Amino acid sequence: MENDSGYFITSKNIFPSISQLLDYYSKNNGLCCLLSRICPKMIPATEDLSKATRDKWEIDRRTLTKIEILGSGNFGEVWRGTWNSTRQVAIKLMKPGTMDKTTFLEEAAVMKKLRHPKLVRLYAVCSTEEPIYIVMEYIPHGCLQKYLKKDGGKKLTEPVLIDFAAQIASGMQYVESKCIIHRDLAARNVLVADNNMLKIADFGLSKSLKDNSIYVFKEGSKFPIKWTAIEAITSQNFSIKSDVWSFGILLVELVTYGNTPYPGMTAAEVQLKLQGAFRHPKPPGCSDELYEIMLQCWHANPQKRPTFDSLFHILDDFIIATQNSYE
Ligand code: ADP
Ligand code: MG
Repeated sequence: MENDSGYFITSKNIFPSISQLLDYYSKNNGLCCLLSRICPKMIPATEDLSKATRDKWEIDRRTLTKIEILGSGNFGEVWRGTWNSTRQVAIKLMKPGTMDKTTFLEEAAVMKKLRHPKLVRLYAVCSTEEPIYIVMEYIPHGCLQKYLKKDGGKKLTEPVLIDFAAQIASGMQYVESKCIIHRDLAARNVLVADNNMLKIADFGLSKSLKDNSIYVFKEGSKFPIKWTAIEAITSQNFSIKSDVWSFGILLVELVTYGNTPYPGMTAAEVQLKLQGAFRHPKPPGCSDELYEIMLQCWHANPQKRPTFDSLFHILDDFIIATQNSYE
């Protein structure tokens, strides 16, 4: 801020120039952290590949070049590549014959409706022949689970991890407002962009909901037990509230730097014990306040769990509200 006497963040400490202000806060405490290096300029994320593809859902696969494989998941491979030789994109290829075209295109149809800075943006599909391609925004630093596991991840302080949690809650707040459920919310399905910006990906299991009704999961399908809400495991009742449960497990992944939840327990043991009062124990180093949020996400009654809207606001204010713990 600026007044007649100079520049300031708090009016108790006024500097004659911005460079003196920056110099002071890079050497002295006063902000939540010391200023270090200049934030790299963000390349603005373009909404669509081009004006021409905005309403054109199907594109010609000859306009795409695959460069390197980024990962392979349940349904196929994900490649880094380019569109029209210039625009960097990620291309998801469906393994021919592993699942039907309709199911694969459902993922794309859900993603296409969603436009939010915290969600991976879908650009187009090539679905006229196999393998089917989904063309989406390329996110440079891979999945959050691996990012947390890397040595660098250990340097992430609790305020940064809480900011991650708030970003994911913000994306899910939008998903909630659209009456959509994700159904596989986990650190492996969150991607890391520049400047620690996160994007939620892999709406592979999501389905559009009508009137907030609870979607009943098809029998025989596989799902990751340690992330799944108790009612979704036992009665296949998936809802935005089962996503809230998964979000609580994602908080565990954040504070344990990408470890698998419920260490030392098999998925079957977890499933059995969750039917009683047992919940994931407080991870080492996790504050009481954050563990309290996790426990709310795992309330036995789905309706008693918080909304993503309230989770976002709690986490967004969390650093200020619990400031004393960081001093
Ligand atoms: P699946 O649903 O088949 O398991 P994912 O969509 O989770 O596949 O992708 C598998 C891996 O590919 C991810 O862990 C990530 O490393 C990489 N990946 C996926 N989407 C992108 C993207 N948009 N940008 C960069 N990397 C991606
Ligand atoms: Mg995945």
